[in-house]
Amino acid sequence: MKYDTPHRRFNQLTQEWVLVSPHRARRPWQGQIEKTPLENLPVYDPACYLCPGNNRAEGKQNENYTGTYVFDNDFPSLLLPGNLDNDPVDRSNIEITEDRRLFRAQPVSGICRVVCFSPRHDLTLPELKQAEIEAVIRTWTDQTLDLGKHSFIQYVQVFENKGAMMGCSNPHPHSQIWSTSYIPDEPAKELDSLAAYRRQHGTCLLCDYLAEEQKSGERVVGSNDHFIALVPFWAVWPFELLVISNRHTGGLADLTADEVSGLAQLLKSITTRYDNLFEISFPYSMGFHQTPTDRQVHEECHLHLHFYPPLLRSATVRKFMVGFEMLGMPQRDLTAETAAGKLRELSDLHYKHRN
Ligand SMILES: [Zn+2]
Ligand SMILES: [Zn+2]
Ligand SMILES: [Zn+2]
Repeated sequence: MKYDTPHRRFNQLTQEWVLVSPHRARRPWQGQIEKTPLENLPVYDPACYLCPGNNRAEGKQNENYTGTYVFDNDFPSLLLPGNLDNDPVDRSNIEITEDRRLFRAQPVSGICRVVCFSPRHDLTLPELKQAEIEAVIRTWTDQTLDLGKHSFIQYVQVFENKGAMMGCSNPHPHSQIWSTSYIPDEPAKELDSLAAYRRQHGTCLLCDYLAEEQKSGERVVGSNDHFIALVPFWAVWPFELLVISNRHTGGLADLTADEVSGLAQLLKSITTRYDNLFEISFPYSMGFHQTPTDRQVHEECHLHLHFYPPLLRSATVRKFMVGFEMLGMPQRDLTAETAAGKLRELSDLHYKHRN
């Protein structure tokens, strides 16, 4: 079939459909115009709660850190499961509330942390040096191992919210890690799909998908010996990216030193292309999906990252998920192939450093 007329595409990972309406990309835009985010930030901001040496909430103070820096979130969305003294906590202590037919609830617990990428207030991921991005990846890895050691933690979700448009109020380069006493819905859906595919075909869904995308190349944005970045066939967000490890491996902790440097190189390259697209610091939510820490064997799991950016056609025009998308299903105008082509054409030399 041709992809220039309305069609829907199936997301193999989440088992959900997306409506694609390529003809609508030609319509004039009369929607909301966002303010262009402020640029030219100071190297150090005395009012930033993430800068080295500064005070945070409740009298806590950051160290005078020089590389990456990790601390427990001062206002975590999840709390510890009670008596930390006897940690590791027996999960049987987590009492499940009465499972009524219509009102289901379960107590949950977890640990939330913040990871500063750099002491520099004014830099973002694409502006960090290769070695600095590798250090960030190693910090994410160490944190995954450290949090996963707690017996009540079943999943470690590493993610970055970048830009005010994504609800991130602080431009200081940082990510968050929420580790939870259960596997959250998105990775849980994907693990189910990966396991079902493995049972049915005896192979890995993402390994097979990766091979097909490499063959056609039409949705590939960048790649190296260890990782590939592509606009997935079933992408919902205009410039959504999926970054997949070439090798079938489940978690950050399984990566070799060469793979870490391959991932750092590709992250720098794709986030630079993002910034170059509209010549602004490009907003997105990104995160890893990796092996749960639930003490089960997860041969089906294949390490990957998602990038979900909200921008559509300029620095100031964003995509909203409203109307049919809230009530029916997600929809996009620009095809995945067109989006990949636009990103591929861009330089991976950052626009700020071209002169
Ligand atoms: Zn700062
Ligand atoms: Zn695989
Ligand atoms: Zn995923």
